[in-house]
Amino acid sequence: MAFPNSNGTEAGPWKLAMEDGKPIKPPVTVKYTKLFINGEFVDSVSGKTFETFDPRTEEVITGVSEATKEDVDLAVKAARAAFDHGPWPRMSGSERSRILNKYADLLQQHSEELAKLETWDAGKCLDMVQGFDLPEAIGNLRYYAGYADKIHGLTLKMNGPYQGYTLQEPIGVCGQIIPWNFPLIMFFLKISPALACGCTVVIKPAEDTPLTALYCAHLSVEAGIPPGVLNVLPGFGATVGAAISNHMDIDKIAFTGSTQVGRLVMEASAKSNLKDVTLELGGKSPLIVMDDFNIDEAVEIATVASFINMGQVCLAGSRVFVQEGVYDEFVKKIVERVKKQVVGDPFKRGVQHGPQVNKVQFDRILKYIQYGKIDGANLLIGGHSLGKKGFYIEPTIFNNVEDDMRIAKEEIFGPVMSILKFKTVEEVIERGNKTIYGLVAGVLTNNINVANRVSRSLRAGTIWINCYLTGGSEWSLGGYKMSGIGREFGPFGLQNYLQVKSVITPIHDSPWL
Ligand code: ADP
Repeated sequence: MAFPNSNGTEAGPWKLAMEDGKPIKPPVTVKYTKLFINGEFVDSVSGKTFETFDPRTEEVITGVSEATKEDVDLAVKAARAAFDHGPWPRMSGSERSRILNKYADLLQQHSEELAKLETWDAGKCLDMVQGFDLPEAIGNLRYYAGYADKIHGLTLKMNGPYQGYTLQEPIGVCGQIIPWNFPLIMFFLKISPALACGCTVVIKPAEDTPLTALYCAHLSVEAGIPPGVLNVLPGFGATVGAAISNHMDIDKIAFTGSTQVGRLVMEASAKSNLKDVTLELGGKSPLIVMDDFNIDEAVEIATVASFINMGQVCLAGSRVFVQEGVYDEFVKKIVERVKKQVVGDPFKRGVQHGPQVNKVQFDRILKYIQYGKIDGANLLIGGHSLGKKGFYIEPTIFNNVEDDMRIAKEEIFGPVMSILKFKTVEEVIERGNKTIYGLVAGVLTNNINVANRVSRSLRAGTIWINCYLTGGSEWSLGGYKMSGIGREFGPFGLQNYLQVKSVITPIHDSPWL
């Protein structure tokens, strides 16, 4: 199939959707830019600030206080005191639940402002933040608020004249480090189960997207979360992130980000106090389209799997394996479908595809598009940046991709789909598993036996059958292989913030039953 244009690919049909040809003036102001320690906004010890940028224009939004190791020490001290002596771990679960639900109500009340702030800082489409990110973030907080008074242990049947039971105790002071692709969801995915269990938290938002985390810190005071329970430290990975990972007085670390940094976090834990580690890392997930599946539905699912949030999703299903019988038709239809993606200013209603988050990511994605061409894949559509300012990249599709090409093996974290052809179920299982990652996978088929076989054979933490990227607070997310350690969301997410203590006493003068 030929899609001719000047560089051998079909020219993308996209013009940046803007209002009056200009970026929309941000309809929100920034109110909170300082570190949040012990229930107050404070300057950093060094007095330093760093800038956060608008990905649409590359212009500075505001300066934000920059935490360093000294600020981490102060925040940990506050969190330690709140855990060891404060009311939070000691109050009843139902009281914690009431406060967390009030926090969720406040987020709801301020959702308009929060969503706009998120779009401004992260370049995420406002429609999506309002329709997905915020409801998910608030839903997560409510979900774990509901667990706060339902955390309990077991009565043990002892092998002797003893009685025993287990306590599920909060693990202590938790360090949490999050990325920039879903700032609000990540913030609440991390703090909600920790707070529900009675832990205290020192959390570092990504340096690209600190603004909504600080706004949420402010609302936590109004909700009644006591000082020291939640501390928010904007700053850089190599300083704040490393100081959290290395800290001797932090009991637990939960990290979401790249596999490379996950390894550093784990190393730091091993070299400091062996703090418990939960890691949610990279992926290069397969989406498998079998011959028998409705092709139009497959095209819709694949579009979401590769292009949602401009491909900045660790769960992206960007290795699309298509069975040979429908391969040509799929290729033709996905190109037509992707042309309909509305690319433009993320503040504009109806826009589905905004800028990438920053220059580093923008350059990295364009480099991978070059790798695709050099390695011999066929660029079907896209492949270029858009506009004179901002980090916009066209939705991009390669076919004739082979397993050993860089675009098939490495996580791109951008809007780049690789299409690979396969013949048999055995073959696609083997090729699907040929990766260092194992985060998620999808299979589209009407044959229950194929669905069962593929889902039990792929080594990944979530397998979607006939859908992709569905699920809310109640599922479990986590990686096989180098995609991570542990599970988040759902009841599994609670276990990250609890530890089990056994209590045993002898039984005298009583029946031992
Ligand atoms: P991404 O490639 O998505 O930016 P990273 O893994 O680099 O992913 O970043 C995820 C989070 O980890 C960010 O908050 C970042 O600041 C933090 N981070 C980066 N380097 C380190 C480090 N050495 N130690 C701890 N955290 C870090």
